[in-house]
Amino acid sequence: MTVLDRFRLDGQTAIVTGGNRGIGREIAGALAEAGADVVVANRNGESGREAAAEIADSTGVETLAVETDVADEASVRAMVDTVVEAFGEIDVLVNNAGIVVHEAAETMTEEEWDSVVDVNLKGTFLCSKYVGREMMASGGGSILSVSSMSAFVANYPQRQVAYNASKGGIESFTRQLASEWAEHDIRVNTVAPGYIRTDNTDQADAVDPDIDEIWESEMLMDEIAGPEDVAPTAVFLASDASRYMTGACIVVDGGYTVR
Ligand code: NDP
Repeated sequence: MTVLDRFRLDGQTAIVTGGNRGIGREIAGALAEAGADVVVANRNGESGREAAAEIADSTGVETLAVETDVADEASVRAMVDTVVEAFGEIDVLVNNAGIVVHEAAETMTEEEWDSVVDVNLKGTFLCSKYVGREMMASGGGSILSVSSMSAFVANYPQRQVAYNASKGGIESFTRQLASEWAEHDIRVNTVAPGYIRTDNTDQADAVDPDIDEIWESEMLMDEIAGPEDVAPTAVFLASDASRYMTGACIVVDGGYTVR
């Protein structure tokens, strides 16, 4: 076996929440290139089906789109049942679905706070819970969540306390879950990206026209990266290449959090 063989996922089944666009789309495609059958689980059914069809066409793996609201327990349970019926076992879960609300803490509504924490943090818990049960029954797996550098640093100039709280929560949730599920051979890790050009960051452009320059001035690598710069780390964490890692976080931020 070569070192690159350890990154292969042939014959495995991977669920990517929010796998229809942005970082999740790129991760879903990368896992498929590594050989995994891929499930795209997101809210917009049409966009999910399109992404699943594109991935199957370009890689030859089996794909499935399942319309899912990760913040809704019944929806998550139904998605996991559908995947088990279609593929038997689940080997990899990528908790990627996430939203941000740019609002100052002093004016943020309860609904805004709940919407962010429900998708980002509760969604990560619910998907891990139902997929984890299947992984326990089948002998193990790898769960990775897309956290953020916002778990560790304050962002500027945008206001986003709910987002940062939810991402910090994902980091401590991950450490605790890794501890609780090690005995089931389930590894639990995170990848924490810096600024990545997607619909998510485009939303922040509305906050301040100079926002890209402000962000870039804080990075060692003065460029906002693309989702393709995050996907290889997801393949690493999903695969046997990271067999000895659990409860860990890999920061992919162009050096933003270093200073
Ligand atoms: P996008 O806004 O491009 O995509 C968000 C994704 O989340 C979509 O696929 C969307 O599906 C899905 N989603 C949102 N709500 C739900 C829900 N309730 N149930 C299921 N799916 C849902 O975001 P990014 O690609 O930028 O972000 C992906 C992840 O990466 C997020 O967790 C984000 O916090 C994180 N991240 C992003 C960074 C960045 O700079 N872009 C930096 C650090 C972390 P649909 O299209 O169906 O709504």
